[in-house]
Amino acid sequence: MRIDIKRIENRINEIGNIGKVSSGGITRFPYTDEEKKTKELIINWGNKIGLNVFEDSIGNVIFHKDGLKNNGEVILMGSHIDSVPNGGKYDGVAGIVSYLEIMEIFYENKIKTKYPLEFIIFVNEEGCRFPIGLMGSSALAGRLSKEDLYQNKDKEGLILAKEMEKHGYDPDKIMEVKYPLEKVKAYFELHIEQGGVLDTRDIPIGIVDGITGLSVLTVKIEGISGHAGAFPMEGRRDPLISATKIIQFVQKTALEYGNTARGTVGDVRVLPGGSNVIPSTVEFTIDYRDLNFGNMKNAIRKITRYSKEISSESGVQCTIDVNQLIKPVLSNDELIEEISNSAEKLEIPYMNLPSGAGHDAMIIGQFCPMAMIFIRSVGGVSHCPEEHSTSKDIGLGTKVLMDTLLKVAK
Ligand SMILES: [Zn+2]
Repeated sequence: MRIDIKRIENRINEIGNIGKVSSGGITRFPYTDEEKKTKELIINWGNKIGLNVFEDSIGNVIFHKDGLKNNGEVILMGSHIDSVPNGGKYDGVAGIVSYLEIMEIFYENKIKTKYPLEFIIFVNEEGCRFPIGLMGSSALAGRLSKEDLYQNKDKEGLILAKEMEKHGYDPDKIMEVKYPLEKVKAYFELHIEQGGVLDTRDIPIGIVDGITGLSVLTVKIEGISGHAGAFPMEGRRDPLISATKIIQFVQKTALEYGNTARGTVGDVRVLPGGSNVIPSTVEFTIDYRDLNFGNMKNAIRKITRYSKEISSESGVQCTIDVNQLIKPVLSNDELIEEISNSAEKLEIPYMNLPSGAGHDAMIIGQFCPMAMIFIRSVGGVSHCPEEHSTSKDIGLGTKVLMDTLLKVAK
């Protein structure tokens, strides 16, 4: 059974033509005409190969292929078709096209697995228009309420629930979207890596150990403002000096905890913000991630302690708020084993690596065995028009996934 690389490429390009913007990328937001057109295109492909297609009341699209044993147990796959503003062609779409390719090959070769196979286009994964990312998968898990949909607005002030209604969906039926995830024997997600680890090592695919946990902190340091010329250097209470030390310490800590830890300060505000004014207040965020939850909590504790010490030594006030704390979700060991065996059998080079980015798998993986296959991102770039993965690499990942499905679903 051969993967048709040309078909994969054509489909990615065809989807990539919907939502093209003048800056060269793709903007395909949920509950828009672009999203609708994309779904129609994919549903049409699904119908042609005999898949049962069902769209739920918030816009997740489920493609189902019966198995020999239809007792509710299922092998599930998922990804998304929404994008970030001016994003790339491959994020999310690579997965959907890969699942379609496998279903198409099974259709052509009249292959029926024991368990039914399903794949889902999850709605609003990116959370760029309505800031409620991983929305479709969260709804499947029963973690989203009607209120969430009525409270969420886009930048123009349009209410999510109203926009859903405008496109024929029913936010009031959010609870009906809940999916029996306890019946899922295995969940797979194929996705582009979006980092440069595979490309640097010249390896086409990765097997994901798990999705790192995430913690977002806000640090506020208050000192005493003054005239940059008049105020002597001695006795200053400049909060920016402490802030820079803490920022250095975030990097040092993440490096200390090893290769699955990531510490980033990406948003710093200095007030009042004048070249000739000693700052009064500095606010910044810390994004800290690790696959090891214990290490992640220790690192945050260390950073917090250091921030307080440094601030009190310098006579400034430091307050730290934890805005978000999400636990890591580990891939299932047996599924990792199955995928590795398939890759070895097919002589496709792979490596194990964590996912620093969030995916629907981190929601679904809390309820059933989960595994992810990463496809090399050329140059490690993503979320921009330059995002690229070769059809050959996507084909290799698809081959490994198909072989794994044949074992797991049999
Ligand atoms: Zn994605």
